[in-house]
Amino acid sequence: MNILPNYINNKWQKSPATENIEITNPATAELLAKVPLSSKSEVNEAAESATKAFKSWRRTPASQRVQFLFLLKYLLEEHLEDIARTITFECGKTLVESRIEMRRAIENVEIACGIPMMLGGNHHEDIVDGIDGTMIRQPLGVCAAICSFSFPGMIPLWFLPYALACGNTYIVKPSEKVPLTMQKIFQLLEQTGLPEGVVNLVNGSKETVDAIVEHPQIKAISFVGSTSVAKYIYSWGAANSKRMQCHGGAKNPIVILPDADIVNTTRIAADSAFGCAGQTCLAASIAITVGEAQETFTQAIVEAANKRVVGNGLDDKVEMGPVINAGSKTRIEGLIEKGTSSGAKLLLDGRNPLIPGYEQGNFIRPTILEDVNPLSEIANTEIFGPVLSLIHVNNIDEAISLVNDNPFGKMACLFTASVAAARKFRYEAETGSIGINIAPTEPTPFLPFSSCKKSFFGDLHGQGNQAVEFFTQTKTVLERWSSKSK
Ligand code: NAD
Repeated sequence: MNILPNYINNKWQKSPATENIEITNPATAELLAKVPLSSKSEVNEAAESATKAFKSWRRTPASQRVQFLFLLKYLLEEHLEDIARTITFECGKTLVESRIEMRRAIENVEIACGIPMMLGGNHHEDIVDGIDGTMIRQPLGVCAAICSFSFPGMIPLWFLPYALACGNTYIVKPSEKVPLTMQKIFQLLEQTGLPEGVVNLVNGSKETVDAIVEHPQIKAISFVGSTSVAKYIYSWGAANSKRMQCHGGAKNPIVILPDADIVNTTRIAADSAFGCAGQTCLAASIAITVGEAQETFTQAIVEAANKRVVGNGLDDKVEMGPVINAGSKTRIEGLIEKGTSSGAKLLLDGRNPLIPGYEQGNFIRPTILEDVNPLSEIANTEIFGPVLSLIHVNNIDEAISLVNDNPFGKMACLFTASVAAARKFRYEAETGSIGINIAPTEPTPFLPFSSCKKSFFGDLHGQGNQAVEFFTQTKTVLERWSSKSK
């Protein structure tokens, strides 16, 4: 079994690391590859090559820089199916989910192609008598992404295209749980003809991450992963004077009012809670029913969840794949147990399902817990699995209080026919993103991927105009010229 190479200074190279991790297919337990746990010296080599490349990359006009991204977009389109299959192989999600992930990934490349228009600064004549002031934007230097396993193709592309378009050079550290997708995408980046050292791929885990966070030549880090690691990396990176944006975990509540369209709400809620086996930071994980919505929604969601076809994501009929690994399955099952022991009722128990032909896979069927105590551990812990908790309240104020007491702040959604209720929710709910008659959903790159509380550490989010803010340094220039100046 080959050990995956790193890509540094436009060369695929074998890692000298002695330790590696076995990557297995979560549906079949088949061994797919081994990923090296790269050391500080390889991070250093990538940072050196990216630093060298930065000197001429920053001088390359933005309109020329994005030509490489246009080419990347076409290569990604051409290889979308192959990359989607790789995502399903290593991550377990269904092929349809993997294709959607890659469409979203490509959208980020497309939006970054428009960055030359956004790099402009501004100019003020005669700030005071005879003095003009100008703000210009300049790239930062070497930037890096440290990624979670949940979207192996999309997450690195939430950052890399914007960083390159703004004139930075880049290092990607993919999740060690799903390293194969980035191997494919870097083969495409290689085909674009980007100059040596502009993009680099370093595989590994904690030691590799620590080396990135400590490296003096790396100026900015985009992190996506669990809250505990996000907080640790944010504090340490900031202490090392780096610009940081650290996207953490989530526990997204959806609130269902009695006037909601129950058929559509149920379909949307089921797709969100159980899509990608609940392993997305935008999974609906708590459904708060208000008044009469309790009965109608509960009945409908149990029915929808029960019908979901679970199996190998490569099978066209399958609607939900396995969770990422055996450790994750055990952790999720343990949290379900904790939920029932804290008084929740198990309406649907997805533990230990029999999926014929896939007995070695990490499967959990959709699970629904009712009457979850809002103060219990299960109500306040990110499960990151196909588990939906139901909580019932009497009115929208009680629902908003629960949303605001939630320690996470990724996204909260309201399902209603009332404009007044929607406006109140948008105004009062304390989360970075809000959905009205929409499930928590992956970001559109036009807008920043906003979140707060335990879901985000930093100031500027990924995507939208905040990507340009994050990946550039503003410089203010004040000039006085008299009429005698030459
Ligand atoms: P994780 O925190 O275990 O790993 C994320 C990255 O951090 C990996 O690259 C890993 O190598 C590194 N890492 C892990 N432990 C480390 C340590 N002790 N020191 C240094 N580096 C370390 O997360 P995961 O299991 O890959 O992904 C799931 C998590 O990601 C969930 O909490 C989910 O909500 C979150 N997530 C958040 C978003 C978002 O946009 N907010 C998006 C996707 C996933």
